[in-house]
Amino acid sequence: MATVAFIGLGNMGAPMAANLIRGGHDVSVFDLVPEAVSSLATLGARAAASAEQACSGAGFVISMLPASKHVESLYLDQGLLDSAPTSAILVDTSTIDADTARKLSAAAAGRGRSMIDAPVSGGVAGATEGTLSFMCGAADPEVFEKVKPILLDMGKNVFLAGGPGAGQVAKACNNMLLSISMIGTSEALNLGTKNGLDPEVLSNIMLASSGKNWVLEVYNPCPGLMENAPASRNYEPGFMSELMLKDLGLAMAAATSSEAMTPLGGLAYELYNRHVSEGMGKKDFSSIFRAIESLQPES
Ligand code: NAD
Repeated sequence: MATVAFIGLGNMGAPMAANLIRGGHDVSVFDLVPEAVSSLATLGARAAASAEQACSGAGFVISMLPASKHVESLYLDQGLLDSAPTSAILVDTSTIDADTARKLSAAAAGRGRSMIDAPVSGGVAGATEGTLSFMCGAADPEVFEKVKPILLDMGKNVFLAGGPGAGQVAKACNNMLLSISMIGTSEALNLGTKNGLDPEVLSNIMLASSGKNWVLEVYNPCPGLMENAPASRNYEPGFMSELMLKDLGLAMAAATSSEAMTPLGGLAYELYNRHVSEGMGKKDFSSIFRAIESLQPES
């Protein structure tokens, strides 16, 4: 059993903290929203009045916050890097930009502390079922090994991607590829349908051919083909388009700072940016199929 402080109890953090409680850990929780804290307290967590209080006596500090600015604010501006116990390992599971993750890891090291980035894949369903994939960036593999058993109480795959920031880079690469395969699959289905093919027949052909991919296997964006896919429930998420746009922005930032060329990633960013600005941000990211369908040739 470990003593864990969990900061950020939103859509992802609340079920992750609940799984740590189920795993038998002593969990102390804090969120800016008091109801989120009291709801976890009913499951057995210790309710804290501040992040600093939650961290008192903790062996591990886990944060799950919306974006880079929140993570930087918690650890640097609010001083958690100074106030957390020196022996505590700090684990940020939020999806943020790799440069901020590297900066925080270096700032932690400068204070004699260890911090790793550990963003997740698997969404709210994975957080609830405890089946998340964690991709970690750690300066010291031994620190990663100490964190791994805790992460396995919230997920089923835990990878060490490399040094500080590597977890964030892995997450950005994966989601950029996912967005490209979602757009590509949507284009193929739209092309086939506009040429008189039944999208279900076409999907089955591609699934048995070299175009086979994860989107076709479990997340077909064409409505009515897969009972459990968001496309068959009016694109209710799932994984919202605005979160995909956020992740594509992080991928573009990593590409710029490393001078890696990502032409298709850039196009995917533009398409999701337009899709979100047209009011589809809260819809599942597979709703890009509708945007592709409605594109008209330039006259
Ligand atoms: P959310 O907005 O539901 O939850 C974030 C929580 O952080 C909120 O409860 C908020 O009150 C709290 N918070 C913000 N600043 C705080 C502070 N200083 N101290 C304490 N609490 C604070 O977001 P979410 O959907 O849980 O996502 C969290 C992270 O996980 C994001 O980085 C997101 O990109 C990533 N992620 C989300 C999904 C998904 O499907 N939702 C999937 C994978 C990764």
